[in-house]
Amino acid sequence: MQITRRTTLTRLLFGSVALKLGLATRGAMAGEAFAVTHTEAEWRQLLTPTQFAVLRQEATERAFTSPLLHESRQGTFACAGCDLSLFNSSTKFDSGTGWPSFWQPLAHAVSTREDTSFGAVRTEVHCSRCGGHLGHVFDDGPKPTGLRYCMNGVALNFHQSA
Ligand SMILES: [Zn+2]
Repeated sequence: MQITRRTTLTRLLFGSVALKLGLATRGAMAGEAFAVTHTEAEWRQLLTPTQFAVLRQEATERAFTSPLLHESRQGTFACAGCDLSLFNSSTKFDSGTGWPSFWQPLAHAVSTREDTSFGAVRTEVHCSRCGGHLGHVFDDGPKPTGLRYCMNGVALNFHQSA
């Protein structure tokens, strides 16, 4: 309970700071406060141009371009923006789409919202700690969840298990 309270307090604090600074936020980020926040200039320094385009501007990497597509070692896939662990390698599968795909995120790792861009209704997935855009989730995945978390590989860092 202590942790929950502290998290809530942190979110409130960051939220008020963001309001005071008048930070522009997009889509899901509007009205939603995250534990890890940076200004746009700071994010540009922290991320590669491609990472920035995906994580902060919701771009999509070209299919079949991510080195993580065929990453099959045991480990964890973490957010490239804040290093929060997002997916365990045991939930990764080959969806044939050209993007790293998982059937389940780690608990509390991601948040979702409806995305109506490009004339389609999709469910956007973002990191629960920094709000970074990761990809989308679809309901045509394998058992046991039936979900397909279609992720931009550039938004992820792989950490191999020791
Ligand atoms: Zn993150």
